[in-house]
Amino acid sequence: MHKLPVLDPHTTLDKNYQAFLSALKTTPFSGDVEISYGSRLAVATDNSIYQQLPQAVILPKSVDDLSLIGKTAAQFPSVRFSARGGGTGTNGQSLTPGLIVDLSRYMNQVLEVNAQEKWVKVQAGVIKDQLNDVLRPLGYFFAPDLSTSNRATIGGMVSTDASGQGSLVYGKTSDHVLALTSVLVDGTILHTQPMSMQEATILAQENSTLGGIAKQLLATCVGKREQILAKFPRMNRFLTGYDLEHALNDDLSQLDISRVITGSEGSLVFVAEAKLNITPIAKFKALVNIKYDSFESALRHAPSMVAAQATSVETVDSNVLNLAKQDIVWHSVKDLIQDVPGKTVLGLNMVEYNSNDQAGIEQKIAELSARLDQAIKNNESGVVGYQLTYDTAEINKIYTMRKKSVGLLGKTKGDKKPLAFVEDTGVPPENLADFIMEFRALLDARGLKYGMFGHVDAGVLHVRPALDMCDPEQEAMIPEISDAVAALVAKYGGLIWGEHGKGYRSEYSPTFFGEELYAELCKIKSAFDPLNKMNPGKICTPFESNETLVKVSDQKRGKFDRQIPVETRTSFEPAMSCNGNGLCFNYDKTSPMCPSFKITADRRHSPKGRAGMVREWLRLLATQNIDVNELEKSTDSFSWFEKLRHTLDKKKQPDFSHEVMEVMDGCLACKACSSQCPVSVDVPSFRSRFIKMYYDRYLRPPKDLLVANIESMAPLMAKFPRFVNFFLQRKWFKSLIHKSVGYVDTPHLSVPTLQQRLQVPLFNLAQLQQLEKSQLAKKVCIVQDPFTSYYEAGVVESLVSLITKLGYEPLVLPFMPNGKPQHVKGFLQEFAHTARTAAELLNQIHELELPLVGIDPSMVLCYRDEYSKTLGQHRGEFKVQLVHEWLLNLELPTPQTRSKMEYALFAHCSEKTALPASESQWQNIFAKFGLSLKPIAVGCCGMAGTFGHEASHLEQSKGLYNLSWQQQVAQFSPEQIVATGYSCRSQVARMDKFKPKHPLQILAEIV
Ligand SMILES: Cc1cc2nc3c(=O)[nH]c(=O)nc-3n(C[C@H](O)[C@H](O)[C@H](O)COP(=O)(O)OP(=O)(O)OC[C@H]3O[C@@H](n4cnc5c(N)ncnc54)[C@H](O)[C@@H]3O)c2cc1C
Ligand code: SF4
Ligand code: SF4
Repeated sequence: MHKLPVLDPHTTLDKNYQAFLSALKTTPFSGDVEISYGSRLAVATDNSIYQQLPQAVILPKSVDDLSLIGKTAAQFPSVRFSARGGGTGTNGQSLTPGLIVDLSRYMNQVLEVNAQEKWVKVQAGVIKDQLNDVLRPLGYFFAPDLSTSNRATIGGMVSTDASGQGSLVYGKTSDHVLALTSVLVDGTILHTQPMSMQEATILAQENSTLGGIAKQLLATCVGKREQILAKFPRMNRFLTGYDLEHALNDDLSQLDISRVITGSEGSLVFVAEAKLNITPIAKFKALVNIKYDSFESALRHAPSMVAAQATSVETVDSNVLNLAKQDIVWHSVKDLIQDVPGKTVLGLNMVEYNSNDQAGIEQKIAELSARLDQAIKNNESGVVGYQLTYDTAEINKIYTMRKKSVGLLGKTKGDKKPLAFVEDTGVPPENLADFIMEFRALLDARGLKYGMFGHVDAGVLHVRPALDMCDPEQEAMIPEISDAVAALVAKYGGLIWGEHGKGYRSEYSPTFFGEELYAELCKIKSAFDPLNKMNPGKICTPFESNETLVKVSDQKRGKFDRQIPVETRTSFEPAMSCNGNGLCFNYDKTSPMCPSFKITADRRHSPKGRAGMVREWLRLLATQNIDVNELEKSTDSFSWFEKLRHTLDKKKQPDFSHEVMEVMDGCLACKACSSQCPVSVDVPSFRSRFIKMYYDRYLRPPKDLLVANIESMAPLMAKFPRFVNFFLQRKWFKSLIHKSVGYVDTPHLSVPTLQQRLQVPLFNLAQLQQLEKSQLAKKVCIVQDPFTSYYEAGVVESLVSLITKLGYEPLVLPFMPNGKPQHVKGFLQEFAHTARTAAELLNQIHELELPLVGIDPSMVLCYRDEYSKTLGQHRGEFKVQLVHEWLLNLELPTPQTRSKMEYALFAHCSEKTALPASESQWQNIFAKFGLSLKPIAVGCCGMAGTFGHEASHLEQSKGLYNLSWQQQVAQFSPEQIVATGYSCRSQVARMDKFKPKHPLQILAEIV
């Protein structure tokens, strides 16, 4: 039998936790508490190999909420917490079987900026780039950098003492923390900033938690100073968690408790707010990209760059470079890292200089260039070439590529995926090259593949060996390799955790701190958190307790993934391959990446959330011996009456499938994830498959039927457009459609219709097939789509006119459904049928070598992506081009007059993510016509096909427009704005009451 069964939604929580959550409800706690299986799963992973399901997720709104959590928990000794920010930890730092306290949803405000005194006060959930967006106009930035800057929070940075590129100059997060507001596990609110030794000594005499903390810190940091200085390596990436050395200032006149909290990975307190030092942005920057014949050459050459006073030196190896070349990101950097003729570039150092002194930078660059020219001439140091840029935008593009390195490695094909577990080793930079050679030998001896990149200036190299975690034997290699690497870094005087913190690698704390200082850590933990309630097992345990540290060998995601049969894993590869790096949590409203996450701030509604839900759904099916591939093909679904009964029973019969359906329904199917996620987690591909299977058990809502059939209904309705529009304009009819179908703001059909407008001959394939090649040469076929043809016939008319004016003969193909709406709604058999029919005709035209041109990006791109996935080799070779792709290859006429109008291009997000060159190509085309066109950085408009017309999504749709488009649209007059997407034009019309033109219409007007 292959029918979708009911799946257990794991609603039962541990009794203690239930009681705690009930008690919390009786307090004035104002945040959210989420207990659904989906919400818990969404935070059960980070970017690590571990998986740990929490009992619930608590999302506080204020310091008082955090305090209430602590105070309430005082009655529940076994209730435990882990604070969470962006969840980008690489070693399970924020994972817990207890309660997740997520500060990122609500506690994310920049509270105060004091540019004069150079500080800022923020809530802990603020994302690092978000903070810098606020500081940039004032000429400042928060200096410690990290690759995850567009999703990691200040709370997470403080708690892991994050740092990254430029750390030699800019230091670590702890170097910039001026004061913290934290909440102790008993709910006490703690304000910390440096205090004099005298104040500390007085405080230490107090009979309070804070007094106990001060007493212990003095005993440890002063009493064990000598041992601390001897043990802590003299490296830029010093030994954090807990930072016993820098809790005292250099002349031992001050104690700073914040410094101990910084790097403590949530094992001491909840960090609620931070006062941070900010740094002026240097006026001038230069970046030299130096290319090498080997990675070793790049490593060995780096120290001389540091000696030449570079602000930072970053490196990547050939594996990373090659992966970048295959990614969308290469498009933006390819001119800055060009190939060297006759040489193979196998290593790259990115050397940055920045300063307020332009002449000083130019002098340094001139010296470096001379040395590099000499090296190239004499075949020295493996240098094969270099490129220089002073352009900040270009420099940022290179760093975006570098920051994407981890994600790029994740793209590695096959079952073995690069994993974080020994990924941030740090050794004194002078030892780095030798250390890396031994490290490589260690990995090579085990036959492992890996890519390397990192901060050579600080001696930190990121390495992710590729292993298949579904194979228990390979999983068993993790502790063994970790032990070997821990020994190797110790040999070179370094640390196994040079940058990302400890998490499940806390078991190495006693080794690296030594027995004596480790005992001191435990005493400090006892002073803050005697019952081990704060992120237990991380960093250390309370002194003389029976508690244990978490271990590298603890439960991993592989344990769950391997329960899914291999064939299912292969078939659902996009959902399996998500490695949790969190790039899809991008907050930037001008980025197309995941609009549904942006508008909900709910991690379930992200590509990562959706991939995780589907993986668990597949696993639960496997535990019931359901072969999902068979289930998908099955024609043996439930009868209509059974579906009705299941649907009516939804509330009585909990089913995890409903939770998965909820998050799939919230997806706009915009496909931004498929190109923006570094490992191409393509949610729409598995979303439609899930939806299909879900509705084999439950009844479909009427709106799905309406959307899926829109392509057959539109041509029928267009036979009586005025009649249909008459009803669409009536209030009662709109209300009826809203209430019965759940559809709103139904667009009006074009009057006159396309047929009435067009004066071109009817398309006749048989006649065309009789023509000579020369007779076909000037013919161009327009592939209709239902939206422009029936709702914006004027745009198609303009295309006909443009083609004609350019000296070609337009042939409008008869309308044939494309199938995209069917795919979006999971009518996959119907979609396959539609696609086969359309492909047949398009292939016949393709054989005549006639160009096929379509207008709407999402429909045209469907021919490329969904058609290929569904039809495979039966898709054929036809290619439907977008208007700009066709125009690009033409000899365009030189314009007679130049328009002064400055046009603003609002490109469709599917188009600009799948075809990253499209905006600049439109710009070039406009330039050839003597027109100026400026691409505008916007995210999703919120319409996304029919998403924004569905009543259940209306609020989100409008919210997205207000978030990402409204302000930008307001910058221009309606005549200036051009938009390539039908959905986008409709959304502007709905929200701002004017309809922008398609860029082709401007061209048609001026030619
Ligand atoms: C692809 C990739 C690249 C990375 N590159 C870098 C890099 O260049 N440099 C670097 O330093 N790190 C890097 N990291 C690691 C990670 O991004 C950092 O550790 C980051 O600081 C974590 O921030 P977060 O908000 O995601 O914290 P989370 O992962 O949510 O939490 C991290 C730790 O901080 C604790 N925590 C979070 N918020 C609070 C709070 N308010 N109060 C108390 N404890 C809290 C958690 O309990 C946990 O122990 C990288 C990670 C990935 C996936
Ligand atoms: S979906 Fe992609 S971007 Fe998001 S966490 Fe997974 S791998 Fe990273
Ligand atoms: S298709 Fe769009 S909305 Fe859906 S998960 Fe991907 S990025 Fe998010």
